[in-house]
Amino acid sequence: MPEPSPRPGCGAYIHHDVLPPTVCVAAPTVAGLRYYPHNRVAWLAFACDQHADELIAPRALLPRDCAVLARRRAHRDTELVGQRWTGEREAPLARGPAAERLIERARAWAALARDPNASGDSSPLTSDESQERHQGGP
Ligand SMILES: [Zn+2]
Repeated sequence: MPEPSPRPGCGAYIHHDVLPPTVCVAAPTVAGLRYYPHNRVAWLAFACDQHADELIAPRALLPRDCAVLARRRAHRDTELVGQRWTGEREAPLARGPAAERLIERARAWAALARDPNASGDSSPLTSDESQERHQGGP
């Protein structure tokens, strides 16, 4: 299976009765994780309000998320007009066991964040992702 390319928008699948599924193009309002078990990769992903619960550990957008979204849009727009993207190629946040650890931590954080008695710890996405990113993979 080819690695999924990061989507510039919400990207949730919308299922229809007759037509094949389409991809949601609503403006994203939250950032979180998507895990692709076939490839064992975790990607930074975005969703609109309606599809926020499809992400793992969704949180509010940060300024740097907007930069990521802008780059993904530029990448997509470049390829849509048949040109080759020469900008930065985005990599998954983590692969293999590192991806599974990241997802586990993100789920634990999300469970805590939902608990009104828990103290406001920061998202694993804001503290650990850069560290995971350097732990390599194939
Ligand atoms: Zn959506």
